Amino acid sequence: MSKITLDGLEKRYGDTLAVEEVSVTIEDGELLCLLGPSGSGKSTTLRMIAGLETPTDGEIRIGEEDVTDRPAYERNTSTVFQDWALFPHMSVLENVAFGLKMRGVSKSERRERARTMLERVEMGEYADQNPTNLSGGQKQRVALARSLAVNPDVLLLDEPLSNLDKRLSEDMQIELREIHEEFDETFVHVTHDQDEAFTLADRIGIMDEGRLVQIGDPHEVYENPKNLFIEGFLGDTNFVTGEVTKTTTETVHIATELDRTVVVPTTGDRSSLSAGDSVTLSLRPEALSIDSVNGASDDPQKQPAMADGSTTNSVVGTIENVIYRGSTVRYSVAVSDTSMFVERTVADSGAFEAGDDIRITWDGGDVLAFREDGSRVGR
Ligand code: ADP
Repeated sequence: MSKITLDGLEKRYGDTLAVEEVSVTIEDGELLCLLGPSGSGKSTTLRMIAGLETPTDGEIRIGEEDVTDRPAYERNTSTVFQDWALFPHMSVLENVAFGLKMRGVSKSERRERARTMLERVEMGEYADQNPTNLSGGQKQRVALARSLAVNPDVLLLDEPLSNLDKRLSEDMQIELREIHEEFDETFVHVTHDQDEAFTLADRIGIMDEGRLVQIGDPHEVYENPKNLFIEGFLGDTNFVTGEVTKTTTETVHIATELDRTVVVPTTGDRSSLSAGDSVTLSLRPEALSIDSVNGASDDPQKQPAMADGSTTNSVVGTIENVIYRGSTVRYSVAVSDTSMFVERTVADSGAFEAGDDIRITWDGGDVLAFREDGSRVGR
Protein backbone atom coordinates (compact mmCIF):
# COMPACT_ATOMS: atom_id res chain seq x y z
CA MET A 1 0.00 0.00 0.00
CA SER A 2 1.32 3.46 -0.80
CA LYS A 3 -0.81 5.85 1.16
CA ILE A 4 1.25 8.83 2.29
CA THR A 5 0.69 10.43 5.68
CA LEU A 6 2.24 13.79 6.55
CA ASP A 7 1.84 14.65 10.18
CA GLY A 8 2.78 18.12 11.46
CA LEU A 9 5.48 18.40 8.80
CA GLU A 10 7.76 21.42 9.11
CA LYS A 11 10.89 22.70 7.41
CA ARG A 12 12.89 25.67 8.54
CA TYR A 13 15.83 27.23 6.68
CA GLY A 14 17.38 29.68 9.14
CA ASP A 15 14.67 32.25 9.76
CA THR A 16 12.50 31.02 6.88
CA LEU A 17 9.68 28.68 7.79
CA ALA A 18 9.35 27.07 4.35
CA VAL A 19 6.74 24.50 5.42
CA GLU A 20 4.58 24.90 8.50
CA GLU A 21 2.58 22.14 10.17
CA VAL A 22 1.42 20.33 7.06
CA SER A 23 -0.82 17.39 7.93
CA VAL A 24 -2.60 15.39 5.26
CA THR A 25 -3.26 11.82 4.19
CA ILE A 26 -2.77 11.16 0.47
CA GLU A 27 -4.72 8.04 -0.39
CA ASP A 28 -3.27 5.02 -2.15
CA GLY A 29 -3.62 5.58 -5.91
CA GLU A 30 -4.63 9.21 -5.55
CA LEU A 31 -3.31 12.04 -7.73
CA LEU A 32 -2.82 15.01 -5.42
CA CYS A 33 -1.72 18.36 -6.82
CA LEU A 34 0.01 20.77 -4.50
CA LEU A 35 -0.91 24.16 -5.93
CA GLY A 36 0.28 27.57 -4.82
CA PRO A 37 2.33 30.58 -5.81
CA SER A 38 6.10 30.51 -6.01
CA GLY A 39 7.73 30.22 -2.59
CA SER A 40 4.67 28.75 -0.85
CA GLY A 41 6.49 25.55 0.18
CA LYS A 42 5.27 23.06 -2.45
CA SER A 43 8.67 21.80 -3.61
CA THR A 44 10.03 21.60 -0.09
CA THR A 45 7.06 19.44 0.91
CA LEU A 46 7.62 17.18 -2.10
CA ARG A 47 11.35 16.95 -1.47
CA MET A 48 10.71 15.91 2.12
CA ILE A 49 8.43 13.09 0.87
CA ALA A 50 11.23 12.05 -1.52
CA GLY A 51 13.81 12.11 1.26
CA LEU A 52 15.82 14.87 -0.44
CA GLU A 53 15.22 17.24 2.50
CA THR A 54 15.07 16.38 6.18
CA PRO A 55 12.07 17.76 8.06
CA THR A 56 12.74 20.06 10.99
CA ASP A 57 9.68 18.59 12.67
CA GLY A 58 6.85 16.16 12.01
CA GLU A 59 6.53 12.72 10.52
CA ILE A 60 6.20 11.12 7.08
CA ARG A 61 4.71 7.66 6.63
CA ILE A 62 4.50 5.77 3.34
CA GLY A 63 2.03 2.95 3.77
CA GLU A 64 2.32 2.07 7.45
CA GLU A 65 6.07 2.71 7.59
CA ASP A 66 7.62 5.74 9.21
CA VAL A 67 10.19 6.92 6.64
CA THR A 68 10.97 10.30 8.23
CA ASP A 69 14.59 9.41 8.95
CA ARG A 70 15.20 7.19 5.94
CA PRO A 71 17.42 8.36 3.11
CA ALA A 72 15.91 8.80 -0.34
CA TYR A 73 17.32 5.54 -1.69
CA GLU A 74 15.54 3.57 1.02
CA ARG A 75 12.12 4.92 0.04
CA ASN A 76 10.24 3.47 -2.91
CA THR A 77 9.58 6.90 -4.39
CA SER A 78 10.65 8.29 -7.73
CA THR A 79 10.83 11.96 -8.71
CA VAL A 80 10.34 13.72 -12.05
CA PHE A 81 12.03 17.12 -12.03
CA GLN A 82 11.27 20.28 -13.95
CA ASP A 83 14.68 20.27 -15.64
CA TRP A 84 14.41 16.53 -16.53
CA ALA A 85 17.83 15.75 -15.03
CA LEU A 86 18.73 13.26 -17.76
CA PHE A 87 22.30 12.01 -17.97
CA PRO A 88 23.84 13.50 -21.14
CA HIS A 89 26.56 10.85 -21.47
CA MET A 90 24.05 7.98 -21.61
CA SER A 91 21.63 6.94 -24.33
CA VAL A 92 17.90 7.38 -23.81
CA LEU A 93 17.57 3.64 -23.07
CA GLU A 94 20.43 3.72 -20.54
CA ASN A 95 18.84 6.70 -18.84
CA VAL A 96 15.59 4.81 -18.38
CA ALA A 97 17.40 1.65 -17.26
CA PHE A 98 19.64 3.51 -14.80
CA GLY A 99 17.36 3.31 -11.75
CA LEU A 100 16.91 -0.41 -12.31
CA LYS A 101 20.67 -0.88 -12.43
CA MET A 102 20.94 0.88 -9.08
CA ARG A 103 18.37 -1.59 -7.75
CA GLY A 104 20.39 -4.58 -8.92
CA VAL A 105 18.15 -5.68 -11.78
CA SER A 106 19.95 -7.84 -14.38
CA LYS A 107 21.06 -6.21 -17.62
CA SER A 108 18.68 -8.07 -19.92
CA GLU A 109 15.72 -7.49 -17.65
CA ARG A 110 16.40 -3.79 -17.24
CA ARG A 111 16.82 -3.27 -20.97
CA GLU A 112 13.54 -5.03 -21.59
CA ARG A 113 11.73 -3.02 -18.95
CA ALA A 114 13.27 0.25 -20.15
CA ARG A 115 12.15 -0.52 -23.70
CA THR A 116 8.61 -1.25 -22.53
CA MET A 117 8.47 2.04 -20.63
CA LEU A 118 9.84 3.98 -23.60
CA GLU A 119 7.19 2.42 -25.83
CA ARG A 120 4.55 3.42 -23.29
CA VAL A 121 5.54 7.08 -23.53
CA GLU A 122 5.88 6.80 -27.33
CA MET A 123 9.64 7.22 -27.29
CA GLY A 124 10.67 3.69 -28.35
CA GLU A 125 12.27 4.85 -31.59
CA TYR A 126 14.63 7.17 -29.68
CA ALA A 127 16.10 4.46 -27.44
CA ASP A 128 19.63 4.70 -28.87
CA GLN A 129 19.78 8.46 -29.19
CA ASN A 130 21.54 10.87 -26.92
CA PRO A 131 19.03 12.83 -24.78
CA THR A 132 20.68 16.15 -25.60
CA ASN A 133 19.24 15.87 -29.12
CA LEU A 134 15.63 15.65 -27.89
CA SER A 135 13.03 18.40 -27.62
CA GLY A 136 11.74 19.51 -24.21
CA GLY A 137 8.58 17.43 -24.51
CA GLN A 138 10.57 14.34 -25.53
CA LYS A 139 13.00 14.80 -22.63
CA GLN A 140 10.07 14.99 -20.25
CA ARG A 141 8.66 11.72 -21.63
CA VAL A 142 12.02 10.03 -21.12
CA ALA A 143 12.23 11.41 -17.57
CA LEU A 144 8.75 10.06 -16.90
CA ALA A 145 9.66 6.63 -18.32
CA ARG A 146 12.79 6.57 -16.16
CA SER A 147 10.81 7.37 -13.02
CA LEU A 148 8.10 4.81 -13.74
CA ALA A 149 10.55 2.07 -14.74
CA VAL A 150 11.55 1.38 -11.14
CA ASN A 151 7.92 0.68 -10.31
CA PRO A 152 7.76 3.14 -7.43
CA ASP A 153 5.01 3.12 -4.80
CA VAL A 154 4.86 6.88 -5.12
CA LEU A 155 5.64 9.13 -8.09
CA LEU A 156 6.58 12.69 -7.19
CA LEU A 157 6.40 15.33 -9.92
CA ASP A 158 8.03 18.70 -9.29
CA GLU A 159 6.65 21.22 -11.84
CA PRO A 160 7.38 18.70 -14.62
CA LEU A 161 5.52 20.63 -17.32
CA SER A 162 6.57 24.18 -16.58
CA ASN A 163 9.40 24.21 -19.15
CA LEU A 164 7.03 23.19 -21.94
CA ASP A 165 5.01 25.55 -24.11
CA LYS A 166 1.29 25.86 -23.37
CA ARG A 167 0.04 23.49 -26.05
CA LEU A 168 2.56 20.77 -25.25
CA SER A 169 1.94 21.18 -21.54
CA GLU A 170 -1.81 20.71 -22.09
CA ASP A 171 -1.22 17.53 -24.12
CA MET A 172 1.09 16.19 -21.43
CA GLN A 173 -1.48 16.93 -18.72
CA ILE A 174 -3.97 14.62 -20.45
CA GLU A 175 -1.27 12.00 -20.95
CA LEU A 176 -0.15 12.17 -17.32
CA ARG A 177 -3.74 11.62 -16.25
CA GLU A 178 -3.94 8.53 -18.47
CA ILE A 179 -0.62 7.22 -17.17
CA HIS A 180 -1.82 7.75 -13.62
CA GLU A 181 -4.98 5.74 -14.34
CA GLU A 182 -2.99 2.98 -16.02
CA PHE A 183 -0.31 2.61 -13.34
CA ASP A 184 -2.67 3.09 -10.42
CA GLU A 185 0.07 4.52 -8.19
CA THR A 186 0.05 7.43 -5.80
CA PHE A 187 1.13 10.63 -7.56
CA VAL A 188 1.98 13.92 -5.87
CA HIS A 189 2.29 16.67 -8.45
CA VAL A 190 3.55 20.18 -7.70
CA THR A 191 2.43 23.10 -9.84
CA HIS A 192 1.77 26.83 -9.68
CA ASP A 193 -0.62 26.55 -12.64
CA GLN A 194 -4.31 26.43 -11.70
CA ASP A 195 -5.46 24.98 -15.03
CA GLU A 196 -2.91 22.19 -14.76
CA ALA A 197 -4.08 21.34 -11.25
CA PHE A 198 -7.74 21.39 -12.28
CA THR A 199 -7.05 19.11 -15.25
CA LEU A 200 -4.96 16.59 -13.37
CA ALA A 201 -5.96 16.35 -9.78
CA ASP A 202 -8.22 14.02 -7.86
CA ARG A 203 -7.69 16.49 -5.05
CA ILE A 204 -5.94 19.85 -4.92
CA GLY A 205 -3.99 20.97 -1.86
CA ILE A 206 -3.56 24.73 -1.88
CA MET A 207 -0.43 26.12 -0.25
CA ASP A 208 0.19 29.65 0.93
CA GLU A 209 3.22 30.79 2.94
CA GLY A 210 4.23 27.26 3.90
CA ARG A 211 0.77 26.18 5.02
CA LEU A 212 -1.67 23.79 3.41
CA VAL A 213 -4.66 26.14 3.52
CA GLN A 214 -7.32 24.00 1.83
CA ILE A 215 -7.60 20.55 0.36
CA GLY A 216 -10.46 19.13 -1.64
CA ASP A 217 -11.56 17.99 -5.06
CA PRO A 218 -11.21 20.66 -7.76
CA HIS A 219 -14.91 21.48 -7.85
CA GLU A 220 -15.08 21.82 -4.08
CA VAL A 221 -12.14 24.20 -3.73
CA TYR A 222 -13.41 26.34 -6.60
CA GLU A 223 -16.99 26.47 -5.33
CA ASN A 224 -16.08 26.78 -1.69
CA PRO A 225 -12.81 28.67 -1.30
CA LYS A 226 -11.94 28.97 2.35
CA ASN A 227 -10.46 32.42 2.17
CA LEU A 228 -9.80 35.49 0.05
CA PHE A 229 -6.32 34.32 -0.99
CA ILE A 230 -7.70 31.10 -2.50
CA GLU A 231 -10.53 32.92 -4.28
CA GLY A 232 -8.03 35.33 -5.84
CA PHE A 233 -5.52 32.63 -6.71
CA LEU A 234 -7.91 30.14 -8.32
CA GLY A 235 -9.31 32.38 -10.96
CA ASP A 236 -10.10 35.80 -12.25
CA THR A 237 -12.78 37.55 -10.27
CA ASN A 238 -14.05 41.03 -9.43
CA PHE A 239 -13.22 41.92 -5.85
CA VAL A 240 -15.41 44.72 -4.55
CA THR A 241 -14.89 46.23 -1.10
CA GLY A 242 -17.70 47.53 1.04
CA GLU A 243 -19.23 47.98 4.44
CA VAL A 244 -22.34 46.37 5.87
CA THR A 245 -25.04 49.00 6.35
CA LYS A 246 -28.05 46.93 7.30
CA THR A 247 -29.02 43.35 8.04
CA THR A 248 -32.44 41.74 8.09
CA THR A 249 -33.47 38.13 8.54
CA GLU A 250 -33.45 37.73 4.75
CA THR A 251 -30.79 40.08 3.44
CA VAL A 252 -27.49 41.77 4.18
CA HIS A 253 -26.97 45.19 2.57
CA ILE A 254 -23.44 46.27 1.73
CA ALA A 255 -22.51 49.78 0.56
CA THR A 256 -19.73 49.23 -1.96
CA GLU A 257 -17.07 51.05 -3.93
CA LEU A 258 -19.36 50.54 -6.95
CA ASP A 259 -21.38 53.42 -5.48
CA ARG A 260 -24.17 50.91 -5.12
CA THR A 261 -25.61 48.86 -2.29
CA VAL A 262 -25.18 45.17 -2.98
CA VAL A 263 -27.76 42.87 -1.40
CA VAL A 264 -26.94 39.28 -0.54
CA PRO A 265 -29.13 36.68 1.15
CA THR A 266 -28.66 36.03 4.87
CA THR A 267 -27.66 32.40 4.51
CA GLY A 268 -24.93 30.36 6.15
CA ASP A 269 -23.16 32.38 8.82
CA ARG A 270 -23.86 35.67 7.08
CA SER A 271 -26.26 36.34 9.94
CA SER A 272 -23.08 36.95 11.97
CA LEU A 273 -22.41 40.10 9.93
CA SER A 274 -23.46 43.37 11.46
CA ALA A 275 -23.61 47.00 10.40
CA GLY A 276 -20.16 48.55 10.16
CA ASP A 277 -18.32 45.30 9.25
CA SER A 278 -15.88 45.65 6.37
CA VAL A 279 -16.20 42.97 3.71
CA THR A 280 -14.77 42.11 0.32
CA LEU A 281 -17.21 40.64 -2.18
CA SER A 282 -16.22 38.41 -5.07
CA LEU A 283 -18.36 38.85 -8.18
CA ARG A 284 -17.25 36.06 -10.48
CA PRO A 285 -17.44 36.84 -14.17
CA GLU A 286 -19.51 33.73 -14.90
CA ALA A 287 -22.20 34.97 -12.47
CA LEU A 288 -22.60 38.32 -14.22
CA SER A 289 -24.90 39.08 -17.11
CA ILE A 290 -24.59 42.12 -19.32
CA ASP A 291 -27.28 44.10 -21.18
CA SER A 292 -27.35 47.37 -23.01
CA VAL A 293 -28.99 50.44 -21.46
CA ASN A 294 -30.22 53.51 -23.26
CA GLY A 295 -27.85 56.31 -22.39
CA ALA A 296 -25.71 56.98 -19.35
CA SER A 297 -28.53 58.87 -17.67
CA ASP A 298 -29.44 55.62 -15.96
CA ASP A 299 -27.75 56.71 -12.77
CA PRO A 300 -27.41 53.72 -10.44
CA GLN A 301 -28.39 55.92 -7.52
CA LYS A 302 -31.71 56.62 -9.21
CA GLN A 303 -32.64 53.00 -9.66
CA PRO A 304 -35.55 51.87 -7.49
CA ALA A 305 -34.47 50.71 -4.07
CA MET A 306 -34.16 46.98 -3.68
CA ALA A 307 -37.12 45.48 -1.86
CA ASP A 308 -36.21 43.43 1.20
CA GLY A 309 -35.90 39.80 0.18
CA SER A 310 -34.85 40.47 -3.43
CA THR A 311 -31.20 39.86 -4.07
CA THR A 312 -31.08 40.77 -7.73
CA ASN A 313 -28.37 43.40 -8.06
CA SER A 314 -27.26 45.59 -10.92
CA VAL A 315 -24.90 48.42 -11.76
CA VAL A 316 -24.52 50.48 -14.88
CA GLY A 317 -21.19 51.26 -16.47
CA THR A 318 -19.41 52.03 -19.70
CA ILE A 319 -17.36 49.54 -21.67
CA GLU A 320 -13.73 50.67 -21.74
CA ASN A 321 -12.05 47.79 -23.51
CA VAL A 322 -12.96 44.67 -25.44
CA ILE A 323 -10.24 42.06 -25.21
CA TYR A 324 -10.32 38.87 -27.26
CA ARG A 325 -8.81 35.98 -25.31
CA GLY A 326 -9.14 32.98 -27.63
CA SER A 327 -12.51 31.38 -27.00
CA THR A 328 -13.76 34.15 -24.71
CA VAL A 329 -14.07 37.90 -24.94
CA ARG A 330 -13.51 40.08 -21.89
CA TYR A 331 -15.24 43.39 -21.41
CA SER A 332 -13.56 45.82 -19.06
CA VAL A 333 -16.26 48.12 -17.71
CA ALA A 334 -15.90 51.46 -15.89
CA VAL A 335 -18.31 51.48 -12.95
CA SER A 336 -18.32 54.49 -10.67
CA ASP A 337 -14.64 55.14 -9.76
CA THR A 338 -13.59 51.57 -10.30
CA SER A 339 -13.72 48.95 -13.02
CA MET A 340 -15.11 45.46 -13.39
CA PHE A 341 -14.79 42.79 -16.01
CA VAL A 342 -17.32 40.45 -17.57
CA GLU A 343 -16.56 37.52 -19.83
CA ARG A 344 -18.61 36.07 -22.67
CA THR A 345 -17.88 33.33 -25.15
CA VAL A 346 -16.69 34.62 -28.50
CA ALA A 347 -19.94 33.32 -30.03
CA ASP A 348 -21.81 35.91 -27.89
CA SER A 349 -19.38 38.70 -28.66
CA GLY A 350 -19.89 41.54 -31.06
CA ALA A 351 -22.94 42.78 -29.19
CA PHE A 352 -20.97 45.47 -27.37
CA GLU A 353 -18.08 47.77 -28.13
CA ALA A 354 -15.97 50.29 -26.29
CA GLY A 355 -18.04 53.32 -25.25
CA ASP A 356 -21.32 51.39 -24.91
CA ASP A 357 -23.34 51.97 -21.77
CA ILE A 358 -24.35 48.68 -20.25
CA ARG A 359 -25.92 47.20 -17.16
CA ILE A 360 -24.33 44.34 -15.24
CA THR A 361 -26.76 42.16 -13.28
CA TRP A 362 -26.18 39.30 -10.85
CA ASP A 363 -27.91 37.35 -8.16
CA GLY A 364 -26.72 38.13 -4.62
CA GLY A 365 -26.84 34.39 -3.94
CA ASP A 366 -23.83 33.97 -6.25
CA VAL A 367 -21.70 36.51 -4.40
CA LEU A 368 -18.93 35.26 -2.12
CA ALA A 369 -18.11 37.45 0.88
CA PHE A 370 -14.91 37.64 2.89
CA ARG A 371 -14.16 39.36 6.18
CA GLU A 372 -11.38 41.84 6.76
CA ASP A 373 -9.03 39.05 7.93
CA GLY A 374 -9.62 37.20 4.62
CA SER A 375 -11.78 34.43 6.06
CA ARG A 376 -14.87 33.47 4.12
CA VAL A 377 -18.36 34.39 5.29
CA GLY A 378 -20.51 31.30 4.59
CA ARG A 379 -22.89 31.31 1.68
P1 ADP B 1 7.58 26.57 -4.00
O1 ADP B 1 7.91 25.19 -4.41
O2 ADP B 1 6.15 26.72 -3.57
O3 ADP B 1 7.97 27.61 -5.00
P2 ADP B 1 9.72 26.22 -2.09
O4 ADP B 1 9.32 25.00 -1.32
O5 ADP B 1 10.72 26.05 -3.16
O6 ADP B 1 8.41 26.91 -2.67
O7 ADP B 1 10.25 27.34 -1.08
C1 ADP B 1 9.56 27.72 0.09
C2 ADP B 1 10.39 28.74 0.83
O8 ADP B 1 11.58 28.12 1.32
C3 ADP B 1 10.85 29.91 -0.01
O9 ADP B 1 10.84 31.06 0.81
C4 ADP B 1 12.25 29.54 -0.40
O10 ADP B 1 13.03 30.69 -0.63
C5 ADP B 1 12.73 28.78 0.83
N1 ADP B 1 13.75 27.76 0.50
C6 ADP B 1 13.54 26.67 -0.28
N2 ADP B 1 14.65 25.92 -0.37
C7 ADP B 1 15.60 26.55 0.38
C8 ADP B 1 16.96 26.29 0.70
N3 ADP B 1 17.59 25.19 0.24
N4 ADP B 1 17.60 27.17 1.49
C9 ADP B 1 16.98 28.27 1.97
N5 ADP B 1 15.70 28.57 1.72
C10 ADP B 1 15.01 27.74 0.94
